[in-house]
Amino acid sequence: MNNNPAYCGLSQEQLDAHWMPFTANRQFKQDPRLIKSAQGRYYTDAFGRKIFDGLSGLWTCGAGHSRDKITEAISKQAKELDYAPAFQFGHTKSFELAHRITEFMPANLNRVFFTGSGSESVETALKIARGYWRKKGMASKTRFVGRAKGYHGVNWGGISVGGIGANRAIYGQGIDAIHLPHTMTAENQFSQGMPEHGAHLADELEQMIAVNDAANIAAVIVEPMAGSAGVIPPPVGYLKRLREICTKHNILLIFDEVITAFGRVGANTGAEEFDVIPDIMTTAKQITNGVIPMGAVISKQEIYDTFMDTSGPDYMLELPHGYTYSAHPIACAAGLATLELLEEEQLIARSKALAPTFEQKLHSLQGSSHITDIRNYGLAGGLTLAAKDGQPALRPYEVAMKCWQKGFYVRYGGDTIQLGLPFSTEDSEVDSLINAIGEALSETE
Ligand code: PMP
Repeated sequence: MNNNPAYCGLSQEQLDAHWMPFTANRQFKQDPRLIKSAQGRYYTDAFGRKIFDGLSGLWTCGAGHSRDKITEAISKQAKELDYAPAFQFGHTKSFELAHRITEFMPANLNRVFFTGSGSESVETALKIARGYWRKKGMASKTRFVGRAKGYHGVNWGGISVGGIGANRAIYGQGIDAIHLPHTMTAENQFSQGMPEHGAHLADELEQMIAVNDAANIAAVIVEPMAGSAGVIPPPVGYLKRLREICTKHNILLIFDEVITAFGRVGANTGAEEFDVIPDIMTTAKQITNGVIPMGAVISKQEIYDTFMDTSGPDYMLELPHGYTYSAHPIACAAGLATLELLEEEQLIARSKALAPTFEQKLHSLQGSSHITDIRNYGLAGGLTLAAKDGQPALRPYEVAMKCWQKGFYVRYGGDTIQLGLPFSTEDSEVDSLINAIGEALSETE
């Protein structure tokens, strides 16, 4: 037993037993950062300190933590129907939730396939895209177009279409994917909201089609606003251009909205906010407020109908795909409660109302001699830390740890610090958070 309070009573053997994801395990296990509880917009750590949740968990908990409505729905559901077979039998909550989700979607995205995570949603969407073309007699359409700096989860399809080199480097060959350039250009540094320049970068898709032939391309997949690479809002006109080119060449457009759906950009979806409708959308995270793992893939009816265009009762004729935990009853109950809470408390409208204040305060960090770019949209924000004014680059990890010590949780990834505020955040909390980041930057020097 270790008496250090940071260990919360865990032995070193217990700490060592858990191989943690996306974490420097050796470092963490010498200096653990354990969270004991969460309420509203705050965590409580091992020392009993309140920590503001500046990333809403992992972009998951926009409605705040430990919300009674959700926890009660989960508890009730667990007592009534804890699990139901996901295949060939059903339960009412999945149909209710599927329908509820379609009400949050742009018109015509109205068929919902449930998964257990964002990564599973991405794999599902990629398989639907390939299966769709095969069903339509165009089996050569198998290649995918992703984008540099894109994050689409960690499964094989996701890392293949994803554009974060570090997540692919040690694994070797994935599935067949080529990549558009990202839109985080020098001329867009410090732009607020959607950058003015960069729509032309979507035209690269025409070049890729010229080289690869649309007859070989199943789909283009992008996050309408990239999240994990450090928050990259789309340039004005960029997504529209992608949509036009996909439509012109008979290529499906998939929006990975695992972060952006259900409020993060101040609207129900990125598709709605940026006024571009994909053929398939992947979601997860905020559906259940992060409380129970769940993802959903929402597709156009025409795609669903293409899979239904079979005769005979054999499911293998439709979509031979699904997960043991697809439409888990407890996740569905959590999802229904979450979507109700978002509406009841007008949380998406509140997040939209706070966005200008957040934007203005976030960009007040521009003067820092360590920040080379600031980006934002809705209640998401990203800072790039690189060498500037003759100063060496700060390590985002150290800045994030300084913030944690000051009572603020922010995420670091690559050379960025990332923020995703809870939807009910107050002005004074934005102030304190930005001040803490400013102090952390100067103290890390
Ligand atoms: N796609 C996007 C856009 C994401 O942001 C994430 C998670 N950050 C994923 C997919 C993967 O989701 P999960 O971690 O639930 O598998």
